[in-house]
Amino acid sequence: MIMKMENRSLNEQPFGEPIKIRLPFFHPDIECIQEPQHSNLSHPYHESLITFIEEDTYQRICAHAESDMRNEVGGALLGKYCKDNETDQCFNMIFDVFPAKPEVNENFSAPALMRFTHTFFIMLDEYLEEVNRKDPEIIRLGMYHSHPGYTVFMSSTDIETFRTIFFEPWHISLIIDPINSDAGVFFWHYTDQGSMEIGKKTGFTLFKSNISKNVQSKIK
Ligand SMILES: [Zn+2]
Repeated sequence: MIMKMENRSLNEQPFGEPIKIRLPFFHPDIECIQEPQHSNLSHPYHESLITFIEEDTYQRICAHAESDMRNEVGGALLGKYCKDNETDQCFNMIFDVFPAKPEVNENFSAPALMRFTHTFFIMLDEYLEEVNRKDPEIIRLGMYHSHPGYTVFMSSTDIETFRTIFFEPWHISLIIDPINSDAGVFFWHYTDQGSMEIGKKTGFTLFKSNISKNVQSKIK
């Protein structure tokens, strides 16, 4: 599976070439909504990467997490890795998700054990290829998964998955606890020694766009 993902990363933008647009806070066609009221947020934002999630897409993530209050569920986060063209702030804009479906991934869900299968990644790549025909700037920005009832943190399994598959600076892990109504985002930080470590739980901002979803590439 790891080999597969390395091949697939060729579809993604090379490091250091985020899309240059204005930060949603300042973009005239994007309306930012306050971040959801989640508990225990150690850092509302981190200066190295800010996460914006389209409101409808976040509703889909919540509905997926709430569809199974016993087992973990999850999927891929799709959108654009961007850089503010005035302040150089890097940020992700999540427009779409690709949920892992239990009926085609029967070993996917289990309490406190979430593994994305090989089949899931093949299906994800097929979906992304289709999406990229309309908008080549959409990439995998990371994954989301639920922790029903046991709070938002990166488990040892989560860290291992993230380390082996999601090692790019734009990759995030969104974890949602539908029972405690909590959610948070995790991503890589560079330490002063130059090594990478997963940062503390951070928040995210929901947004609405006046621009139709099918022409996301026109948000510039
Ligand atoms: Zn987890």
